[in-house]
Amino acid sequence: MVEPERIATLTGAGPARGSHVLYWMQHSQRAIDNPALTFALTEAQRLDLPLLVLFVLLDYPAATAVHYRFMLAGLRETAGALRARGIGFALKRAPAGDPVPLVAAWAGGKQGGGGRENGDRHDQSALVVCDRGYLRHEEAWRLALAERLAVLGIPLLRVDADTVVPADAASLKLEWSAATLRRKIEGAIHHYAQPSVFRGKIRDAASLGVDQGANKEDSLFEAYAKPEDPAHRGDPSPGQQPSLRPGSAAARVAFKSFLDRLDRYEGDRNDPNLEGTSGMSPYLHFGQISCAAMARSALERGGPGAAAFVEQLVVRRELAINLCLREPNYDVYDHAVPEWARRSLAQAAGDRRPWIHGRETLEAAATHDPYWNAAQNQLIRTGIIHNYMRMYWGKKIIEWSASPEEAFATALSLNDRYALDGRDPNGYAGVAWCFGRHDRPWSRRTVFGCIRYMNEGGLKRKFDREAYARRWS
Ligand SMILES: Cc1cc2nc3c(=O)[nH]c(=O)nc-3n(C[C@H](O)[C@H](O)[C@H](O)COP(=O)(O)OP(=O)(O)OC[C@H]3O[C@@H](n4cnc5c(N)ncnc54)[C@H](O)[C@@H]3O)c2cc1C
Repeated sequence: MVEPERIATLTGAGPARGSHVLYWMQHSQRAIDNPALTFALTEAQRLDLPLLVLFVLLDYPAATAVHYRFMLAGLRETAGALRARGIGFALKRAPAGDPVPLVAAWAGGKQGGGGRENGDRHDQSALVVCDRGYLRHEEAWRLALAERLAVLGIPLLRVDADTVVPADAASLKLEWSAATLRRKIEGAIHHYAQPSVFRGKIRDAASLGVDQGANKEDSLFEAYAKPEDPAHRGDPSPGQQPSLRPGSAAARVAFKSFLDRLDRYEGDRNDPNLEGTSGMSPYLHFGQISCAAMARSALERGGPGAAAFVEQLVVRRELAINLCLREPNYDVYDHAVPEWARRSLAQAAGDRRPWIHGRETLEAAATHDPYWNAAQNQLIRTGIIHNYMRMYWGKKIIEWSASPEEAFATALSLNDRYALDGRDPNGYAGVAWCFGRHDRPWSRRTVFGCIRYMNEGGLKRKFDREAYARRWS
């Protein structure tokens, strides 16, 4: 069962005449515990039709070869799991950064024209299901697809599959802080943290004749995984080596092992020298694991760490989603940073800055500060920065940049390029938080004005900063 609050009809009422149900998979790239897939399967069963899952590869904004490799390895596993259940899976490449024409053409079948390759023979879709993406372009794609499908008379239903409390049930307005969102959703977390399982039977998709076979798929996988592919920006840095194994199975193993450390989460989570946090953000970013399943497991396990973990996984993460959905200019300084903070930072603009480091120095981890350099090195080499150092990292970029606007742009672009979990609502909210978003005014300081300040002293109080600097020197 998929909670009705997750489902939005973007166009159409009843199903059209068609040979199958189409699920355009984009955000929720998994075969297990995926409410969008569960809903598509339920509809396929109701209509007595097979299900076809389509994934469109495209030149995604700011994605690098490291991101593609992580995503594609996960998709390969997902494709296998779907096919083993008699669900069709097709991987296609869109010519530019827009999946909409290709999805519409597929849904339109013969009428849609274009987008299909020789050997693909399928008819119009009776119904199209998509998952939900929370960034501006992801929302826009779905609305544009709805317009195209309305012309073809094919319904499009969107399922919010990567939140615990569905975003539209949580709040339709821009939330001020974690406290304001928490009040609205904390009572609903148990209700929505449910498994999403389809136990019925549907027709086998083999009759659709769309599977393109391993060879064709492999060549697409290879094209995107190569750093020199002109479709994207290459490797972010030579030899960036994420330590995480990609894919849903690896995500579940990693999370299971974290659950054994859950009791220590509250105490250990702010020490970057310990494995105190879950490390799940890249898996969540690529939809390789369900946040509802994670929340449910943590709540079932209980104990002292569960509440602290659910606060991050549900309240903080969904606050970031709220920012991106309700403030579509989440990556523009004048919109992402609240008015009080911009005013205060502007008043402090003339303050003498003890150090100015340009983007090149920052990117090369060549500042005067060994702790900051260590965080940047960790980011460049592994695609990960520990949350505590990430806050310090962002705050120091403000302190050392010529202006807050420049700092904002630098932090966003470094985070998006190097972080395996970057290009995510959490990244936009995390950077905006460094500039006062979701926070309150503090007493005034040089350069920072009234926004929260962080210094080396804080690192010293929290953990062995020298050990961290040695490890990532
Ligand atoms: C400057 C800056 C940039 C950031 N950029 C990103 C980013 O690009 N992608 C990203 O996923 N997170 C980002 N964060 C938030 C946070 O640092 C990461 O989510 C966290 O470090 C991921 O590690 P984990 O999975 O071990 O977290 P855990 O502590 O195990 O938490 C579990 C999950 O809760 C969510 N979560 C945890 N902390 C936060 C937070 N502060 N805000 C929102 N959600 C949170 C994440 O989904 C995380 O995977 C950023 C924070 C800052 C200050």
